[in-house]
Parts: sequence; C-alpha cells; structure tokens
Amino acid sequence: MVFFADPRDVAALNEWILPAHERRRLVFVVESASDDTPRFTWEPATEGATSLDWPLWPVVWSAVELLTADALRRVLECANDPCGWLFVDLSRNRSRRWCDMRDCANKVKARRHHARTKRASDRGKTNDAAGGA
Ligand SMILES: [Zn+2]
Repeated sequence: MVFFADPRDVAALNEWILPAHERRRLVFVVESASDDTPRFTWEPATEGATSLDWPLWPVVWSAVELLTADALRRVLECANDPCGWLFVDLSRNRSRRWCDMRDCANKVKARRHHARTKRASDRGKTNDAAGGA
C-alpha cells in the first residue's frame, strides 16, 4: 500500500519544524575505535529548554529528512491491516510487505494458516455430513 500524507498531518508537522530546528546542535560521533571515518549527527540542545517537548525534536528532524528525500518513494504501510505502521522498504526487489517480520508477518501468516485449516476442517465436516446421510 502506498503512503499518502494527510494535509492536516503536514500542517501539524510544520508547526513543530521551527522549534525543533532552533534547538539542535551538531555533534561529532565516533562509531568505534576501528572505524575512524568522521561522522556528525544532530542532537537536541536541551540547555535552557523550557518545556518537555525536546524528545520530540529528533522525531521531527527524522520526519522532515525522510519526507524530503527520495526514500519517500519507498515508504509503505504495513500489509497487516490493523497495524497501520509505516516503514521504508529497503529490500533489493522492493517486496517488503510488513513493518516487522517477527510481529506482523507472523500474525498474517498465522491468520492465513488458521483460515486454511478452518476451511479444510469445514470441508471435512461437510463431507462427513454428506457421507453420513
Ligand atoms: Zn505492521
């Protein structure tokens, strides 16, 4: 299922962008002692923060980064109907269907198995009833 953004959600995100971007700083990240590739990332500048909103700021940064990137074309909604989670399909053949294989994929497969088993069982009951009559 292809992802479409509700304009109300975009408006809500826009309200958060300015406060989130005003309060961030660049920090140097050392991945490991064996990897000396320099890397930087953003982190919340919480000094002087007057509200408890700051944990949301990295979420806003990530959302804006994704929404303005080519990767947006790979954002899909989980095929497990009641789930509704979005994910970025980074699979080579773009065939990913679930947000999480261990959770949603297993639930869908279990529901299919249960439905197949029930249909086979129902057919058996029908055959038994027809054969016993
Ligand atoms: Zn899911």
